[in-house]
Amino acid sequence: MTSGHDAEPSRQYPPATTPEELDHLVEVIKDWAIGNGLAVRTPPAVISSEADPTRITAVPAPVTLFPTAFPRQAFLQGQKAQNAYNELVIDGDDFVRDLWAVHETVKSEGYTQPLSLGLFRSDYMVHEHKSSESPTAQAKQVEFNTIAASFGGLSVYASRLHNFLAKTEYPLLGQPLAPETLDLPANNTIEGLAGGIEAAYHAYGVSELGNVKCVIFLVQGGERNVFDQRHLEYQISKSSPTIPVFRLAFTDIMKHTSIAKSPKRQLLYTLPRNGNRVFEVAVVYMRGGYGPDDYPNQQTWDARCHLERSHAIKCPTVLTQVAGIKKVQQVLATPRPSSEPSILSKFIKDDTPSAIALWNTFTNIYPMDTSDVGLEARKKALDPEQCVDYVLKPQREGGGNNIYGSAIPGFLKTVPEAHWNSYILMELIKAPAENNFILRNGAIEKGRVISELGVYGTCLWNQETGEVIRNEQAGWLLRTKGEESQEGGVAAGYGCMDSVSLT
Ligand code: ADP
Ligand code: MG
Ligand code: MG
Repeated sequence: MTSGHDAEPSRQYPPATTPEELDHLVEVIKDWAIGNGLAVRTPPAVISSEADPTRITAVPAPVTLFPTAFPRQAFLQGQKAQNAYNELVIDGDDFVRDLWAVHETVKSEGYTQPLSLGLFRSDYMVHEHKSSESPTAQAKQVEFNTIAASFGGLSVYASRLHNFLAKTEYPLLGQPLAPETLDLPANNTIEGLAGGIEAAYHAYGVSELGNVKCVIFLVQGGERNVFDQRHLEYQISKSSPTIPVFRLAFTDIMKHTSIAKSPKRQLLYTLPRNGNRVFEVAVVYMRGGYGPDDYPNQQTWDARCHLERSHAIKCPTVLTQVAGIKKVQQVLATPRPSSEPSILSKFIKDDTPSAIALWNTFTNIYPMDTSDVGLEARKKALDPEQCVDYVLKPQREGGGNNIYGSAIPGFLKTVPEAHWNSYILMELIKAPAENNFILRNGAIEKGRVISELGVYGTCLWNQETGEVIRNEQAGWLLRTKGEESQEGGVAAGYGCMDSVSLT
């Protein structure tokens, strides 16, 4: 970029660095990450074959050396839409409800717990409008997560790391970066998410059976992202020291919990040590159960049903989980003829600031069914020229499931046509690439990166009356991946933790 004044310093970001400076930054970051819990369990691939993997605890989580430049406009837009998104999920619809046998079973018996807790995360990528005179950057929604939305814990530590480096290291670079040149917004995700769980715990009320209440974190067996979850537990013990929090593996639900023989069907947790003390579960916070791998057999489905019919407040209920599936996002975002009312208008009044905030974040998404729009979408997906502008998504969570651009036609040929309707076709958001460095497993990856902003929200509501007891924004996350990598999941091994430097 030329400034017109020869003497003016270049505005290169991140600043130019020498190999020595990079080595030094890596040493500082590795220690800070372990010293502060910006960590993940060691990936099997980096444990030596002689080592006992159960004794190896942690390595630094992959992270960028600098906060990535991010347009302020898009950042604020994401925050603004969050409360509206929180409330949107509350209005389920019959067509989704019926998908779920578990929900149907419990519904026929009657739910005894009207309260429902959501810890949500809406994900966005930046879309640049270059056509207008002053280019604008818009946050476009990638997806909305209603179950096991992760990385809230680590996101705060990525922010803190970059804040620490901004004070201690960036000003000392050969091309120094003064702290006041960076705009690093506050990140309160840990307090926000833990606050949602605490609110639900208190809203549960006193145990009618006279039990001590507790919170259960329902986790996956081989989880590597434990410290992310632990930061929420530590926060609860800090702000509400009297709330007992226990971690329970999804596969151990039936072993350690039972349902009280009372009309309310309270969920009881038996501590597997020290005289088998019994607690009453006020809140079940699920960090598993979002994909088929968590349900390898009928027993695991029975266990989910067992939780669902209990009096514990579920985060989330089956119904809320279903509201987050990609098909629902598609139904809301599929463009309709202007003569017909939008589907969104069934849930939220048209032309209100909330509705406009939501609309502005939508990207076109199409069904792959045999409706008129669906058949049109199938044509686009199979056409070698048009398919490059789309991503094909199955109804799955957790990363690594999508099919991109030119791979779509070939992929569809391997899927029986009768199953195509379980996919959705979404326009690719072409986010601008920025420069940065990713530190992963001790090695630096240098180059162009693309970021995805996550905005968290917590919501506690009464699903019978629709009354909203709490609806809060709860911080944010920035995940960054190499420009060439199509999937961005940190857990899936493609992306890394980051924070924003607002521009
Ligand atoms: P999951 O529930 O598996 O996380 P996502 O919808 O978030 O599914 O897709 C996974 C990743 O694929 C995203 O993190 C993003 O990097 C990429 N992706 C998804 N949708 C789009 C899109 N419309 N444009 C560009 N990239 C996308
Ligand atoms: Mg998801
Ligand atoms: Mg995702």
